[in-house]
Order: sequence, then structure tokens, then C-alpha cells
Amino acid sequence: MGSVQIVTTILAAAITAVAVWLVVRAVMKMVAVIRLGQPDPSRFGDQVSRTKTMLAETAGHTRMLRWSVVGAAHWFVMVGFIVLSLLVLEAYFEVVSPTGGLPLIGGWGLYGLVTEWIGILGIVGIVVLIAIRLANRPNRAGRRSRFTGSTMWQGYFVEAVVLAVLIMGFLIRGFKVATDHFEYPTWAAPLSHAVGSALPDWESAVSVAALIKIAISMTWLIVISLNVTMGVAWHRFLAFPNIFFKRKPGAAGSGLGPLRPMMSDGKPLDFEEADPEKDQFGVAHVEQFTWKGLLDFSTCTECGRCQSQCPAWNTGKPLSPKLLVLSLRDHAYAKAPYLLAGGGKDLTGEEKATAAQLAHVDVLALAEAEKPLIGDAEAGGVIDPDVLWSCTTCGACVEQCPVDIEHVDHIVDMRRYQVLIESSFPSEAGVMLRNLENKGNPWGAPQNTREDWTKGLDFEVPRVGEVEDFEYLFWVGCAGAFEDRAKKTTRAVATLLNEAGVSFAILGEGETCSGDPARRIGNEFVFQMLAQQNVETLNEAFEGREKAKRKIVATCPHCFNTLGNEYGQLGGEFEVVHHTQLLAHLVATGKLTPVQPVDGGVTYHDPCYLGRHNRVFAPPREVLGSAINGGTGGADSGLVEMPRNSERSFCCGAGGARMWMEERIGKRINVDRVEEAMSTGAKTVAVGCPFCSTMLNDGVNGKGAGEQVEVVDVASVLLRSVKPEPARGAEEGEPVAR
Ligand code: SF4
Ligand code: SF4
Repeated sequence: MGSVQIVTTILAAAITAVAVWLVVRAVMKMVAVIRLGQPDPSRFGDQVSRTKTMLAETAGHTRMLRWSVVGAAHWFVMVGFIVLSLLVLEAYFEVVSPTGGLPLIGGWGLYGLVTEWIGILGIVGIVVLIAIRLANRPNRAGRRSRFTGSTMWQGYFVEAVVLAVLIMGFLIRGFKVATDHFEYPTWAAPLSHAVGSALPDWESAVSVAALIKIAISMTWLIVISLNVTMGVAWHRFLAFPNIFFKRKPGAAGSGLGPLRPMMSDGKPLDFEEADPEKDQFGVAHVEQFTWKGLLDFSTCTECGRCQSQCPAWNTGKPLSPKLLVLSLRDHAYAKAPYLLAGGGKDLTGEEKATAAQLAHVDVLALAEAEKPLIGDAEAGGVIDPDVLWSCTTCGACVEQCPVDIEHVDHIVDMRRYQVLIESSFPSEAGVMLRNLENKGNPWGAPQNTREDWTKGLDFEVPRVGEVEDFEYLFWVGCAGAFEDRAKKTTRAVATLLNEAGVSFAILGEGETCSGDPARRIGNEFVFQMLAQQNVETLNEAFEGREKAKRKIVATCPHCFNTLGNEYGQLGGEFEVVHHTQLLAHLVATGKLTPVQPVDGGVTYHDPCYLGRHNRVFAPPREVLGSAINGGTGGADSGLVEMPRNSERSFCCGAGGARMWMEERIGKRINVDRVEEAMSTGAKTVAVGCPFCSTMLNDGVNGKGAGEQVEVVDVASVLLRSVKPEPARGAEEGEPVAR
């Protein structure tokens, strides 16, 4: 060993020892913080599916490749990071000896070939990512940049380290070529040979370059160890467990569809026994999230994909799902010293720690602990109420997140505490909640008018109990029963089912609200009250039937989601379909035949709770495709898609009980969506949800375009094609003029 190698070896060992010590300390701190969260036993089942999903999402980058250029570039960087870690290991042999290499595989041609090409593509990948970050700098693009609010130096630092380590790898190889110590032929390592041909024949340069490579890598470890909230770096390790422990492994759209039940100490809360002095009602303090919630916050890469798709953020509201997650993460880690010392409030608000326990806690941590989780700037809150109440629970953030963070669950958990314990929520929503409690529907309409929509139809709509047997229970929903526009959809669906010979029955006055708006606003008590009543009614209606024959068709995606995905939490197991699914089936099987083409172009707005939350994208398009050309076209022929469609559809603004709240900040979400729909030039905007219908109709009318553009349900579009005017008027039982 020469004198240069003695120095490089000592320096490499010293910096590595410091880095390893700091990393171990940082990992222990992160584990301790995550363990502060509440238990969640639901995350440990189905390990095979969890493992498969984790491998598919990480190795295959299945979620990131939707953003194809970024996804591909990130894939090469990720693979480069994993494979080239071996080359960092190799550098430890090279600081000792310029001819050193990895034992066993070091001289293997295939190893040389793979690492060479992964290194080359890794450099291309990281340069692309740096270019994308630079092109989207917040100071250039402002709010439109997905990096607005991200800690930019951390992103640049991580990317610069990756680039530098890759470049040092080729320099080391180049010096080996120049000194004739390189094992791999030119065909296996062309870039290394090209670099080597331009370098001097200096043997010790291999050891010096290897030391620089180790120093850069260890500096990265030291920096991230001193910044445990540096998600842009830590996600390289935390993404694996975060994806493994996601809510619905193996299912598309994890974290969407059903909400998590309200949990206390790892168990779902039953309101018949719940006690706010003993049970946790929602989340009032950051440590009341589950450990998975705290893992979510720690894993955020600050990529801003969620932010770029969020309807609230895109219309000038203070909510960004990324900034919300970052605020919770920073708060959790800043408060952690106080919590780890035994601090925290019990459910009656009393401090749990003794003065002695808190005596050595940093004043900054004590100050952080005093911050209310929800509070405006004056109260020093972590999350502003305007942020919390801006969410439509559309799920665009969850859909886009490459590391499967479950934003909607966290937002609703915080709402639950605000509503149930603090009674703090936008006051206008109070009317809706009172109507739900007193009348069983958000409009406060009399229950005995639930069947009024059937008047004037030229066939009988049977009630459950009046008919011997029925195939489908037609769940009408409150909008479908009481709201004028939605009633047309209800009549159209009933007419089409009757036309197709489907046997169905309604509950009529036996139906009450599914509970969706109560649950999304955070009032789990009212939700459970309504849901239990409905589950009881439905179980009675389907008595004696197996689950496959407990079929329900719903026109409202919120009811569809709640009945199909959430009533199981309360003992109600049903096969629920959306009317567009059933209509698509009836058209495909020839039970309904569209004959009249639709004029003027049709576009389709995906309702969040039908599309993203439940992956029903194709059936409404199939129905529209068949109707547009009067049954002669292909599945989607003639449908004009909006730029944001299917998984990336833009919310109408009504979800998450926002339908019942004023929209005071920024541009109205429905106006934004209507402008997009109108930009397609289509004269018909088809919808599959009564709330979307209301919001988009309001948007069109607000723009004074009611004469040019019609917002109408998919069922009505189909009915017009199956039963053209004037016959339709008789079927719908009311005038058909627009
Ligand atoms: S659910 Fe929708 S509105 Fe709420 S934070 Fe996510 S993207 Fe924004
Ligand atoms: S998409 Fe996920 S990882 Fe990216 S900023 Fe949003 S929450 Fe963080």
C-alpha cells in the first residue's frame, strides 16, 4: 500500500464511521417518531399481496410511469442508485489499492456491462430530472409549479449527489483504463474506455477518485441524517414500507373508495358505546394519527404530483395536499422530543408528563407542542381551517402519489375531531347535518315525497314488499328523489330498466340518505345512525338471499360508493352497481338498442366517486359511444374527451360535503371544469352523478351558455337515443324541451 492509499484509506474509514453513526441515530429517531402513532392492526394481513404490490410499484414504477418521461428517468435513477451502491462498495477496495475491485463479481464481464449501462442511463435520467426541476422552478411558474412549497435545495442537493457519484464512477473506471487495470472490454464498457483514453496514466488517481466518490456518498448520508424530514432523500428507503403497508394492497386506487372507519386504539368505534373521555374521536393531535399516518408524512418526496392535480390548489385555495402533508410531518418531528419524553394530552386534555419528565425537553419542542393542530394564523395552528375545509375528497392526490400516501383519510380524521368534539365547521353545512338528523335527507324534504318522481310514468314502479321477486333494488338516493334535475335521471333509468325488462323495485319511503355527506364532513355519528338504519332496511329487503343476489343499482356515485364499499363496515354486504354499468350491460346484451344519433358532440365528465374512487371509467363511455352514433359506432366513437379525464379527471367541486358549503376563496371549481368541458366544443356534457350535474349546470348557466351547452346524465342521453322524441316525453312523463 502506497502513501496515497494509506491516506485515502484512513479518510474513507473516518468519514464512513461518522456517516454510519449519524445514520443509525437518524433511523432510530425516525422509528421512534413513527411508533408514537396509534395502532393499526389492519396493515399486516395479506402479506403476499403486499409484497407483490410493493415490488411491482417500486421495481416497475407502475404509478410513476403514468408521467412517462419523469417515470422513465426516475426508474433509471432508482435502479442506478441500487445497482451502483455496489460500485460505492467497490470504491472501498479501490482506496486501498488502485487495482482493487469487488470480490467474486468484480471481474465478471456481465457485471461490467450492466453497471456501465445503468451508469450511462442513470446520468441521462438524472439530467432529465434536473432539467424538469429547473424548468418547473416555483420562481418561474409560481403556483402552477408542482414544486411550489417544496424544499428546493434538498432536491438540487440529492440530484447533484447522484450525478456526481455517477460521474466519479466513470472517472475511476477511466483511470483504471488509463493505467491498464480495467478488466472489461470496450464492447462491455464503451464510455469508461472513452473516458480512459483522455486521462493520464496516474495510478493513484484511482484511489483518490474512489475517496472522492466515498466522500460524496457519505456527505449525502450525513446531510440526510441531520435532516430526518428530508423526504426527497429518505423516500428511497421509506417508500418500500409505505407501499407495503398501504390500505388495499393489490387493488388499484388504494386509499380511495371507502373511508377508514373511525378508530380508537386500533379498533373501529361504535357510537352506541363510545365515550369521548375514553375513546379517541378523530384526530386532535399529530400523535393521534396511526403509525401508518406518521410513516406517510415521513415518506413524502415533495414531488408535488398531488398538488398539481388538486382542484382546490388549482383554483387558488390554500389547500395543497403536499403542503398539508409537509406541515404535519414537520410538526410531528418538531414535537417529537416532547412526546418521546412522555408528554402529550390525555383525552380530557390533561398533560400526561410530570414536570420532571419535561424538564430537559427543548423549548422549541415545548412551543411546538402548544400549537393547535387546526387553527388559523392567529392561533398558530398547524393546519388552517380553510385548508381543512377546502378538500372535496376527490382523491386526485391519492391517485397521483407515487408512494401511496393516503391524504383523504388523514383529512377526514382531522375533520372528525373538529365536527364531533369542537363543533367547528363551516356554519352553512349545519343546515345539511340538521336535515339529515331530522328528515333523513340533506334538503330537509318531507319523507312522504320520496316517491313523487314516479308520478306520470306510464308504468308502475314496484316497491319492495309489493312484488314477489325483483332482480335489482333501485336505490334512488336523496338527489334522485328530491332534486328536480336528478329526478329526470331517476325517471330515465327507471324507464330504461322497464324497457329492457329488468325486474326492479324501490324502497320508496323506506329509504334515507346513505350518509355520505355526513361521513365526508366528519360527522361519523350521523353517518352511523343513517347507515345502520339503511343496512337494517336493506338486509330485510334481501332477507334469505346470498350476497351475489343482493343486487342494488344506484344513480348517485356517492350512494354507490357508500352502499358498496362502506356498509360492509356495519354488516351490510351488497352487490352494488352504478346505473351506467347496468345500462352498458343492457346495451351490450341487446336489451336496449340505441337508434337515434346524438347531435353536436358529446364529452363526458368522470365523477370522482365513480371514476377514481371506484375505477368505473369504461361503462359510461360505452353507453355514450353506443348512443352517439345511434348504435352504429364503436364503443367510444365520437366521444370528445376533456384534457383531464378518467384517473386524472377534475372534480366538479361538490364532493367531501363541499356541495353544502360556500366556496368563498379563489375561482369556483365548477367554473374551471365547465370551461374545460366547453373547450371541447361539445354541445352535450354527459355526467353520471347528480352533484356533478348540479355543479356543472350552475357553471354553464353562470357563463350564460345554457342555450349552447347542455349538461345531462348518461342515462338521459341513452334514453333519447333508445326512445327518440316524441315517444320519450311520454316515457319521462314530462316535457322534453331543453
Ligand atoms: S382529495 Fe382532492 S381536493 Fe382534497 S387534497 Fe386531495 S386532490 Fe385536493
Ligand atoms: S404526490 Fe405524494 S410524495 Fe409527491 S408531494 Fe404529494 S404526497 Fe408527497
